[in-house]
Amino acid sequence: MTEPQGVALLGSTGSIGTSALRVLARQRDRFRPVALTAHGRQAALAAQVAEWTPAYVGLVQGDAEAPATWGRGPDCLVAAAEHPDVSIVLNAVVGAAGLPATLAALRAGRRVALANKETLVVGGALVTATARAHGGTLVPVDSEHSAILQCLAGRQPHEVRRLLLTASGGPFRQWSADRIAAATVSDALRHPTWQMGSKITIDSATLANKALEVIEAHHLFGIPYDRIEVVVHPQSIIHSYVEFVDGSVLAQLGAPSMELPILFALTWPERIPDSGVPAFDPVALGTLTFEAVRHEAFPMLGMGIAAGRAGGAAPAVYNAANEAAVALFLAGALPFGGIPRVVEGALTALATQPGDTLEALWAADAAARAHVHGQVGRGTA
Ligand code: NAD
Ligand code: MG
Repeated sequence: MTEPQGVALLGSTGSIGTSALRVLARQRDRFRPVALTAHGRQAALAAQVAEWTPAYVGLVQGDAEAPATWGRGPDCLVAAAEHPDVSIVLNAVVGAAGLPATLAALRAGRRVALANKETLVVGGALVTATARAHGGTLVPVDSEHSAILQCLAGRQPHEVRRLLLTASGGPFRQWSADRIAAATVSDALRHPTWQMGSKITIDSATLANKALEVIEAHHLFGIPYDRIEVVVHPQSIIHSYVEFVDGSVLAQLGAPSMELPILFALTWPERIPDSGVPAFDPVALGTLTFEAVRHEAFPMLGMGIAAGRAGGAAPAVYNAANEAAVALFLAGALPFGGIPRVVEGALTALATQPGDTLEALWAADAAARAHVHGQVGRGTA
């Protein structure tokens, strides 16, 4: 019997983090969490540490009572990713804050099971080049990208005509644009099919999440933007499609649970038995339906894809402005309809900044956050 592989779980207290620990609890022969990190939920992290006794623990914002042996500050993510006992880094941090750890893990030649899609939105070209240069591997956790990876198995790039990402449409799928603009925080947090952290739940309500995912798919699979499309599928059973050049279309299906894509990102290209995923019952799942995106009601989708196409610093500006806008919305400082307004303002001002180095990308990120706060502070949002 071979030793279990060491996993660094970044963002262990979050929605993906806790789902991942449920998967790891069923797969103790194969995997062992050897590093855990969290942002500020010290008590939740301490409970996980008591259960799993990892070799490394990091807490970005710990108080005086955090054990002295724990890593502190933003650098603890990189320390966890570089820990010698680690062979797979499961990056389940939210936001651009996850990028340095992804780069560190790839530089160390490790597998990155990537939930942190913002990593590829901010630094896509840099991240894929780092993986190539150092032999690191990126495997998606995001359900759409996991579906595409599964459909692409054994195929060559020239055989692919189109990727079709499914979107649930979020809680405002059938709302008018005026009603959406006035949506409250509790309206926006009521996702119809997925239980997730608050930032991605708001992104799913604006459809910014799908723009981030189109950019993520572009970098992961090397497919041009004009061959990546989005279709609304409210039941979230078909996780995405791949259309091939002969017209054949493959899809991957399953109940909306992140545990399967998390496990697959750890075991890819192999599949292993897992008792945690419910048996597929098409009759119980019922009717599957599809709709076109209502772009006029969800401007964040087109704006994000345009930023991806523009390249350079534009996707980093879009991402950072969106992160700042979502935080302001959740804090009650910006109406829902203000999110696309301030992101558009930041893109208009900053999208043509240089984005060819990590330093330039961080400068664009910081400028975009400041621009959003400036618009809200001046009352122009
Ligand atoms: P979450 O808010 O529930 O959890 C985030 C985790 O990251 C927490 O452990 C938190 O402590 C940590 N964290 C937050 N900010 C941090 C920072 N600045 N530095 C270090 N650690 C930080 O979020 P989530 O829903 O689990 O999402 C995590 C990532 O996975 C996001 O990029 C999201 O888009 C992606 N994702 C999530 C789902 C889902 O079902 N939740 C599905 C697909 C992709
Ligand atoms: Mg997704």
